[in-house]
Amino acid sequence: MNTKELDAKYVAGTYGRFDVAIKSGKGSTLTDEDGKQYIDFGSGIAVNTFGACDDVWKAAIIAQLDKIQHTSNLYYNENGANLARMLCERTGMKKVFFSNSGAEANECAIKAARKYGTDKNPDKNVIITLRNSFHGRTITTLSATGQDVFHQNFTPFTDGFIHVTANDILELKNAINDNVVAIMIEVVQGEGGVNTLTSDYIAEIEKITIENDILLIIDEVQTGNGRCGKLYSYMNFNLTPDIVSTAKGLAGGLPMGATLLGEKVENTLSKGSHGSTFGANPICCAAAISNIERLTDTFLENVMAKSKLIIDTLSNTKGVKSISGLGLMLGIETEKPASEIISKCIERGLLVLSAKEKVRLLPPLNISDEELNKGLEILKGVIEE
Ligand SMILES: *Cc1c(COP(=O)(O)O)cnc(C)c1O
Repeated sequence: MNTKELDAKYVAGTYGRFDVAIKSGKGSTLTDEDGKQYIDFGSGIAVNTFGACDDVWKAAIIAQLDKIQHTSNLYYNENGANLARMLCERTGMKKVFFSNSGAEANECAIKAARKYGTDKNPDKNVIITLRNSFHGRTITTLSATGQDVFHQNFTPFTDGFIHVTANDILELKNAINDNVVAIMIEVVQGEGGVNTLTSDYIAEIEKITIENDILLIIDEVQTGNGRCGKLYSYMNFNLTPDIVSTAKGLAGGLPMGATLLGEKVENTLSKGSHGSTFGANPICCAAAISNIERLTDTFLENVMAKSKLIIDTLSNTKGVKSISGLGLMLGIETEKPASEIISKCIERGLLVLSAKEKVRLLPPLNISDEELNKGLEILKGVIEE
């Protein structure tokens, strides 16, 4: 049986897949099992920050593999401690909890917020999130996710989440009461259609959280780790969040989540109140340390330059209706259905993603200008014809 047949027979059918079996890759070029090459504008959904098999990333992992692969959280761990320090120094946050995925990073954010609230008042446990948000696939993070399609099955869901419409300040204000402990947002909603929050709305949220002793939680699972032209996307908006969750691109292709805790909640989760067996895995941490070191201001300026190149090219393309997003997280609204554009791109050797009705672009942050232009030429051609 070939890979597609084995998958159909043995792998749980939770994923709709494109007709591609990737076998290998280097940088922003991937190769499938038939030897066909693709320019990668997806990074494994914003995960492969420095593309496939990047040499620096690989060296960091191999060096750690020669020391030890896992120790458990019963013992101190140099890589975990150093990565936490780096993340705190770069963000001004105070403490870090490590886990393995975006959903798990958000679970920690939610637990920390609820503990903070219920320490003050047993009913202060409600978290406001936005419609069209996406926060993960566990029962609780699905409750947090403001999309009805995810709330069809799997009942009962976790209580205590209210969804409001993004960029509607009045609706948000009306939802505030003493039982609200946190507002949780993505600065750019990824799965929800690459929707950017307005800076007015973001500023208003911060004001409301400060005035009402409500925590501001930013889900940076997709937007973070340089994707939006800053280490974390909220840094584009002069914000001071209380909790930041991240995952996807953090370790550049190894499973890793992190929840950054600000001053108000740095000591909220006490010994024994939370944990994760693989959390701060030394190999994942080595990869993340290497990534964070490379996401310098100069590098991030380059991310914005690549973003501008894409926007300039596509805004002059017939058939493009609008472009949304920030940095190298862009949503392209096209006259033709996104699904049609995506399959034609795949035929011609370009991997792009979708988000709701848009074509979504998430190329590796270090994509070469040559690969970027080659991919854009294919995309432009498909959209225009
Ligand atoms: C992908 C994503 C998640 C879930 O991450 P997993 O690693 O799949 O659990 C949560 N929030 C946002 C914004 C995401 O894009």
